[in-house]
Amino acid sequence: MEIKVLKDILAANESISREIHAVLSKHKVLAVNMMSSPGSGKTTILEKTIESLSPELAAGVIAGDVATTRDAERLSRHTAKVVQIDTDVFGGKCHLEAQWIKKALQSFDLEELDILFIENVGNLICPSGYNLGEDLKVLVLSVTEGEDKPAKYPAMFSIAHAVLVNKIDLLPHLEFDMTSLLSHLKAVAPGARVFPLSARTGEGLVSWLDWLRTGAGG
Ligand code: MG
Ligand code: ZN
Repeated sequence: MEIKVLKDILAANESISREIHAVLSKHKVLAVNMMSSPGSGKTTILEKTIESLSPELAAGVIAGDVATTRDAERLSRHTAKVVQIDTDVFGGKCHLEAQWIKKALQSFDLEELDILFIENVGNLICPSGYNLGEDLKVLVLSVTEGEDKPAKYPAMFSIAHAVLVNKIDLLPHLEFDMTSLLSHLKAVAPGARVFPLSARTGEGLVSWLDWLRTGAGG
């Protein structure tokens, strides 16, 4: 019976996800679901990204966090609108669900928004099962995590439109095999764009920003 229940939950999520996508498309808002394990640098990437896109593109953020508002506070310094979903209220869930995104959208003026980032809960397992009405799924992987992550979490990486390989400024200090990462990625996510970058130094950010701008303008 448990399997039936899970199927119902996923079916309901899928239908709300389609609703969200329709609303966002109508208002020409590009939605980007950012996923990663904890500590990969999603929030820093978003800070730099939002700052760089401004003022040509107005960004909003829905930030999912299990227990704190730290990320939302950091992001609200860079954009007018941040809505935090505290998953504690829902029992400390380890992923975001479409019903909460739908609710959070009520806090935005979609007419004024060009791009909406959804910062998912740091987790490489279940966020892959929940569509959130987004246009783009972006995986962030930092080089400190090791090059075999895509092979260990293929479900997660296989759905990515883009993979941001963050913290490349640390490469001289690590035994990280970039060639091996790229071949793992090619195996599980052959269509994904790969952007090696450092949110800290700004290296490589331009290609990622250009890719976003193309998506937002298209
Ligand atoms: Mg964060
Ligand atoms: Zn979960």
